[in-house]
Amino acid sequence: TTVQSELIAAIRNIPDYPKPGVMFRDITTLLGNPRAFRRAIDELVHPYAGTKIDKIAGIEARGFILGGAIAHQLSSGFVPIRKKGKLPHDTVRIAYSLEYGVDEMEMHKDAISPGEKVILVDDLIATGGTAEAAVKLLKQMGADIVAACFVIDLPELGGRKRLEALGVNVRTLIEFE
Ligand code: 5GP
Repeated sequence: TTVQSELIAAIRNIPDYPKPGVMFRDITTLLGNPRAFRRAIDELVHPYAGTKIDKIAGIEARGFILGGAIAHQLSSGFVPIRKKGKLPHDTVRIAYSLEYGVDEMEMHKDAISPGEKVILVDDLIATGGTAEAAVKLLKQMGADIVAACFVIDLPELGGRKRLEALGVNVRTLIEFE
């Protein structure tokens, strides 16, 4: 079987979550499957093997799990991008829109030095609003964003195009409608 079909089979689909009409792509079953978890990480990192990546920036919370494994594999540091109020030291913060209202995410001010090579990681890209805010934060810190990586793309929602319009190279493994 192909890597893609193996990953698709490892993802659980939850109808009407978190609200009616939405099909939630649950990656906890992929994370719990030793072979699928390794395949997903190997596939995400292989273009960057042998490239010096200083930091992996993971978006709370599923981006932490994938990002930690990727950082280990590429021998990079890991930087958490968190919802506001969770980080203990001085932060840079950005507001971004959700379906209803706005939220804020932040990083530690000293987490990334100007010019450092960074890969952004999350489990899924939909509208790209979350990832776009993270890209803006990273750019503010002077990061050299090598790529943004996601296991799942929902292409109809336009997130990939939105990041590419910001000049970001996007890597995804599987797509769902
Ligand atoms: P966006 O900002 O691109 O519209 O939404 C992406 C964010 O919402 C990501 O942080 C992602 O974890 C979360 N998300 C939205 N829908 C899903 C889904 O069906 N499955 C998972 N695992 N995460 C989702």
